[in-house]
Amino acid sequence: MNIVIMGPPGVGKGTQSHWIVEDRKIVHISTGDILRGAIRRGTELGKKVQVVMNAGDLVGDDLMMELIRDRLSQDDVVDGWLLDGFPRTAFQAAEFAKLLKELDQGIDKILVIRAPADEIVRRLAGRITCRVCNEVMNLTGLGNVTPTYCPFCGNSKDEERAKAALYQRADDTEETIRHRLEVFRKKTLPAAWTLEEHFPLAEIDGLGTVDEVAHRIADVLE
Ligand SMILES: [Zn+2]
Repeated sequence: MNIVIMGPPGVGKGTQSHWIVEDRKIVHISTGDILRGAIRRGTELGKKVQVVMNAGDLVGDDLMMELIRDRLSQDDVVDGWLLDGFPRTAFQAAEFAKLLKELDQGIDKILVIRAPADEIVRRLAGRITCRVCNEVMNLTGLGNVTPTYCPFCGNSKDEERAKAALYQRADDTEETIRHRLEVFRKKTLPAAWTLEEHFPLAEIDGLGTVDEVAHRIADVLE
């Protein structure tokens, strides 16, 4: 089974991807992994990626498409894959549809997980991270009070050290979150609609608990 998963930041895409690949025994492919993998293997493509990254540039569409082709041609993906983080634009989606045809592959389901912007802001703007164990927790789940120590590793039971251990990531402010949601709406959603011209798509309500969302996904993957 081949799946493309899409959704705005903070909608729980990573958590859902995790059980889907376990359950379906397919390979999780993220663009970050593809880039790192190509560099690590030292292939011609990997060398090109290294040059782009060393220059501090973003990997262009042509190179990205070559990398995806290379990844989807490897032996470990014959039983299926779940692609996460690609395509990000309508142009990439159209190119990707052509590539799949060439590779004689398809997409069994495009999953688009959605949630209202205000809900995502509430989730992400309330996120705090522990510097010691890197666990991420949500203030709304903790009654909107910053705990005096990390509930996961128990670190810093004295208040002064706890303040130093628990922090909010700079990209979890409301302004940056709203900007990322806008990029998703303007660029990535059109990619989903372009892919839908070729393959079946299911929109998933991302509201509710992880289990509730997982059940909705399981229903459409039947
Ligand atoms: Zn901790």
